[in-house]
Amino acid sequence: MFGPSAKAVGPRRDYTACNGCGLCFLVCPMWRGHRDPRFTPQGLAKALQCGATASALAAPLDACSLCGACDPVCPESIDLSQMVMDLRLALPRRPDIDSRHAKLAQLAGCAAPPPAGALLLPGPDLRAEPALLARVQALLGHPGAEDDGADIALALEAGIEIPRARRRRFLDRLDGRALVVADGLLLRQLRRWLPAARLRSLGEALGNLVALRRRLTGADFYVIEARAYHADHERLVGHYDRLRTETGCGINLDLQRMAIPVAARGRSHPPELAAGGDTTQARWLLQGRTPSRIVVESLADRAAIARICDVPVLHLAELAEA
Ligand code: SF4
Ligand code: SF4
Repeated sequence: MFGPSAKAVGPRRDYTACNGCGLCFLVCPMWRGHRDPRFTPQGLAKALQCGATASALAAPLDACSLCGACDPVCPESIDLSQMVMDLRLALPRRPDIDSRHAKLAQLAGCAAPPPAGALLLPGPDLRAEPALLARVQALLGHPGAEDDGADIALALEAGIEIPRARRRRFLDRLDGRALVVADGLLLRQLRRWLPAARLRSLGEALGNLVALRRRLTGADFYVIEARAYHADHERLVGHYDRLRTETGCGINLDLQRMAIPVAARGRSHPPELAAGGDTTQARWLLQGRTPSRIVVESLADRAAIARICDVPVLHLAELAEA
């Protein structure tokens, strides 16, 4: 049986507060995929209230995409995504994820301290596209940190304990900086670890550039990276409303598809490891929409959406040359 999260901050509560209202069903992609109450935040919270162990809940814990959509809708302010991350720490380790994590941690160990000033934490997807990374850096004017915490992001996702010394070394280099963070899960955790830091998602930072906003049109459909959005939705809903009003573009902010991620999948298929990945979320997101172009904040979303539709799918930074 698990107690309240040691990492939870502010007024967020633990699973004991679940009142069974069912609101979290509405936004949960795990529920949409399984149609089984065990595969919902409520199902997890109620099972814990009845004394279930993490291993008894392994299937839904693996299936959760950590999108964070359940966190803002819960009227009891339960820290549901943190509950899943805490429970994953007790699940059996996976050798494939462990070896990927070890390689990322080794690279982080060799990294030089970052230069002064605002900093970009690009993450593995953007690093894998050096031309796009260079364009993002030129647009933002921020250098990319060599140690961008990719091993820490993977550990958070997969349920791997983060050594205290590693976390300290990472945070010491970032404290007091303005940061643009491409990985939404890492951004959410940095908000907890560095509450006074000036943090923005890559989508918000690029979306604030007038040169890029001017290139969005009413025929575009804009897909928000969901983890970063749900971690700071009260502030970001204004940002995206302005984006929609100014440009006329469609945005995934409607009920039940409210910024649900396309490519964030469960622990069984971490995005970094998946060769293909499923397209269920992408189909759900586009259902009933007929845009002539799709603009995304996440490269994983770009890949997933491009597999199922024949209109151009661009990363936000690619608009600069579109
Ligand atoms: S984080 Fe997302 S997938 Fe996981 S329980 Fe919450 S809404 Fe469902
Ligand atoms: S929204 Fe919160 S209180 Fe309501 S069922 Fe889900 S976890 Fe429980």
